[in-house]
Amino acid sequence: MRRLQLNLNLSGVIVIIAVGVLLPVMLATAAGIVALVLAEDAGGIITGVLVISFAVTAAGSALITVVLTGRKARLARRQEDFVASISHELRTPLSAIRLYTQTLQSGKLDADPARAAQCLETILREAEWLDVLVDRVLTWRASTRDQLPLHRVHAPVGAVIEGAAQRFRTLVVPDEMQFSCSVDSTLPVRHDPDALHAVVLNLLINAYKYTGVEKSIQLRVYDGEGEVILEVEDNGVGLSPVEARRIFQPFYRVGRRADRQTAGVGLGLSIAQYLVRQHKGRIDVRSEKGKGCTFVIHLPMAKESK
Ligand code: ADP
Repeated sequence: MRRLQLNLNLSGVIVIIAVGVLLPVMLATAAGIVALVLAEDAGGIITGVLVISFAVTAAGSALITVVLTGRKARLARRQEDFVASISHELRTPLSAIRLYTQTLQSGKLDADPARAAQCLETILREAEWLDVLVDRVLTWRASTRDQLPLHRVHAPVGAVIEGAAQRFRTLVVPDEMQFSCSVDSTLPVRHDPDALHAVVLNLLINAYKYTGVEKSIQLRVYDGEGEVILEVEDNGVGLSPVEARRIFQPFYRVGRRADRQTAGVGLGLSIAQYLVRQHKGRIDVRSEKGKGCTFVIHLPMAKESK
């Protein structure tokens, strides 16, 4: 409803500008040209030139107004989508937490400690999801203002990668996937451990979300020529070349809104790209539709020992 209103507002502005500005501008330009053609002295020429200059300035201003209004409307639409998706994302783990807590509270599982323990595990997992989500929104907010403080250390990244893999295991149901993590890297990298943790965790979560029932996910870290390479490979839905080019744009999600089954707000990869760039690295994806994805991050080796 609000989207319709926004579109109508935008169309209204365009019509008003077309009728209220462009028409008078065209008339003024025509009048200026006539004045110039019929000018018999310097006064006539000056009048013609002034009228045409005025018309050109008004046309330019109208064009700028249309462009700015369009941008504003697009921004408002994005914000609206964002608020809708984030509310939905927050509500899903919250509902699960409420449901499982009520089940435990009702005493129905008092005689079944194994199921009660499962309930608690789910509650913890959902709370972890909430934490990840809130982190993501805060990181996004800071990154758009370029105000994300990075606390860099000079060290190999193995421990951070293993930490991210460990956190990932707490977020998902282990029986639902085959997951391997191989760390074979000793080169030092100047990096912010929390930021790198967030990037790898996001790639792992995506690998999990965009893969069917038989999930197979591999995380690899190894040294290259003067750089450290991180790879996250999955056997999921994959991406077409066009999709692969667009996934790093903020708010971009593959597929039409109505078809989307998977939760998400379309910010994870743009944050990941921002953070990798802050480390002077780059992130790419190799993929084929239906054949999974491999996200690859290249981080330059630290040059000095400080
Ligand atoms: P979100 O997952 O919250 O939508 P992201 O920025 O992390 O946001 O990802 C953007 C989009 O890229 C996703 O909506 C999804 O369509 C696509 N995508 C990301 N990772 C994968 C993957 N491993 N396999 C297939 N598609 C992916």
